[in-house]
Amino acid sequence: MFTMWNVYRSSPVSKVTQGKYNPRKNILAVYFGYKDQVLEEEDFVIWGCTSCDTCDEMCPQHIKLSETFTYLKNESIALGRGPDSVRYQAKAIYECGKVIPRQVAIERRRKQLGLPKVVDPDIKEIQTLLRGLGIDKKVGIETLKLD
Ligand code: SF4
Repeated sequence: MFTMWNVYRSSPVSKVTQGKYNPRKNILAVYFGYKDQVLEEEDFVIWGCTSCDTCDEMCPQHIKLSETFTYLKNESIALGRGPDSVRYQAKAIYECGKVIPRQVAIERRRKQLGLPKVVDPDIKEIQTLLRGLGIDKKVGIETLKLD
């Protein structure tokens, strides 16, 4: 029988961190009404999940556990918490349409390898979508500075 204990054992992050990241604890906390306590803990308690979906694949009842972990991350951001790296990635997407902005060195290497030019994304469309979802405000994009 698959138990919540298997969530803990199937997670590669739990293995690598020797249990510091504990998805079983997060799932049980959400389902038993202790979500707010999890959200008050250090960021790694929630953001340790890499969204690899291994726990979803291991669940014989096809429960999408990783959706609960994504929900916790979204709640964390809505509370003004979460790692700065995630905020800066969101800002890069908002301003450049990519997590890694266009770089001359990358374009030169692509040309040397005979790869086609990367087509620039429609940044106005991306910004419209992100503003429509309220992500610009949730992440505080206006206040972040990209180097
Ligand atoms: S999705 Fe998150 S909790 Fe599930 S196995 Fe991957 S890292 Fe672990």
